Amino acid sequence: MKIIGLLGGMSWESTVSYYEAINQIISKKLGGLHSAKCLISSVDFAEIEHLQAIGDWQKSGNLLAREAKRLENAGADCIVICTNTMHKVAPMIEQVISIPLLHIAEETRKVIERDKISKIALLGTKYTMTQDFYKEKLIEHGIEVMIPTKDDVEFVNQVIYEELCLGKIRKESKERYVTIIDQLAEQGAQGVILGCTEIGLLIKQEDTKVKLFDTTKIHAESAALYSLAD
Ligand code: GLU
Repeated sequence: MKIIGLLGGMSWESTVSYYEAINQIISKKLGGLHSAKCLISSVDFAEIEHLQAIGDWQKSGNLLAREAKRLENAGADCIVICTNTMHKVAPMIEQVISIPLLHIAEETRKVIERDKISKIALLGTKYTMTQDFYKEKLIEHGIEVMIPTKDDVEFVNQVIYEELCLGKIRKESKERYVTIIDQLAEQGAQGVILGCTEIGLLIKQEDTKVKLFDTTKIHAESAALYSLAD
């Protein structure tokens, strides 16, 4: 079994979901007392969020690249960045490591293609929804990407940073998320990417008829399968 290098803490709430999901898959695949071999470097999210807010992606990229290298030096066979947003600096991380980085948007795109979806909506932080670094991974493969209205982008983003990353799950927020998802589907989205690793804590597939792509689950499954592959 290969060792998975998890770059976590962004937020720690969702790193817990990764750890749980990866171990559940390994346990299901191998049975008995088997569990995942992994190393976790968990950063202080307050530092990362501050750098996001002031737009210093260079500094946060350097910080995460250093942690990724630390994981590689400790024996990790691959790197999994446990957040969609910080994939903005994935190229900086890839420059310093010599092990594969399992890109969350690439892994999600493969699942979307498997489901033959050509028009998808994306929910995530304002950085993920409005900038190109994430959407381009889908668009390059001919997948059209929709995002919510300006007000809804603000709302979705605010709930992530002010509630979900702090472990707060509010019924009102869940209801508005479901309304946003349903509206995007009415406008033609064939599915919705939960493109923030905490959204799965708020919204589950049973909350809507619209097909959901939970990036935490997809990414965790890719990591688990990678660790079991020859
Ligand atoms: N975990 C979130 C994501 O998947 C947001 C936190 C962050 O900004 O990294 O984008």
